[in-house]
Amino acid sequence: MSEAFRFRVTQHGAVGTPTREAFVPADPEPGWARIAVKAMALNRLDLWTTEGIPGFALPLPLTPGCDGAGFVEAVGQGTRLPQGVELGGSAMIAPGLSCGLCPACLRGDDMLCPSYGILGHACDGTAATHVLVPAANLLPIPGNWSFEQAAAFPLVFLTAWEMLVPKAALRPGETVLVWGGGSGVGSAALQLVKALGGTAIAVVGSEAKAIRCWELGAEHVLVRGEMKALAGKVRDLTGKRGVDVVFEHTGAATWGASLSACARGGRIVTCGATTGRETSFDLRALFAKQIQIRGSYMGRREHLWTLISLLAQRPANPPFRPVLDRVFDLADYPAAQCHLEAGQGFGKVVCRVP
Ligand SMILES: [Zn+2]
Repeated sequence: MSEAFRFRVTQHGAVGTPTREAFVPADPEPGWARIAVKAMALNRLDLWTTEGIPGFALPLPLTPGCDGAGFVEAVGQGTRLPQGVELGGSAMIAPGLSCGLCPACLRGDDMLCPSYGILGHACDGTAATHVLVPAANLLPIPGNWSFEQAAAFPLVFLTAWEMLVPKAALRPGETVLVWGGGSGVGSAALQLVKALGGTAIAVVGSEAKAIRCWELGAEHVLVRGEMKALAGKVRDLTGKRGVDVVFEHTGAATWGASLSACARGGRIVTCGATTGRETSFDLRALFAKQIQIRGSYMGRREHLWTLISLLAQRPANPPFRPVLDRVFDLADYPAAQCHLEAGQGFGKVVCRVP
């Protein structure tokens, strides 16, 4: 373990500023496991953890990184492991941390737990050669996926499933507008919409990303431009009706177009605000069109098991898979943060431990 290292945010600063340090990985407490990380994936949360979030105090110093996969290297005394996960074997990590004892946890809504947190945000995360996680957060890696693929899976697929299934109640034949089709969560949503029998209209930032969206099952792809014109194009594609569901994670820049593109009786589900957290809109658009707006944040851990079982049913032709943009060495984690922030890639940015 002499080569163990991790990245630390010791004080908030620009994206790409976490510093590398050697460390001695701790032994896991009962109920916890230590994972020798072989791959980790970046999320927007890595960037916010680095920059700091106004009005939100993070427990610094902190190792970022919500997603990861590797080998189960050690477990705390008397600790049992979930089905399909063994000591010494491979596993991927569910990023949500909850108390397990409150009413929300007991009914399975762990993401509504008052003490809910995310790995790499509430405690040290996966931008390290070793990470401690509750044993209950370990999951078997589907099929013959690589560690890089496994690391790129949990957070965005959990988020997209929660938004489309429990929150939007997407039905076969319905149309979904997916903003940021080339993002990690967008690339997951496009595949899930198709797997659920829906029709996806993707919005991307450049022509180069359009073909990738078609490959993932999008029926139509629009290149982002002036928002009013874009909402008009969405209505044209849907016989002037608008989409049944808007998959929002972009925030202020797209909110007006989301309302405009949403059908009467449609649903807007949002899980993020990368372009800005504050917006105003005409309430008449909301009530006259009878639109439902739902916020979403992560999702039930149970859904990751649902997704794994869906993959196990069709091993030869999996209905969805993680989309990898670029794989860095873990030593280059700060550069991977900058790459994610630049937003030019398609899919998940991953770091591997050589
Ligand atoms: Zn709880």
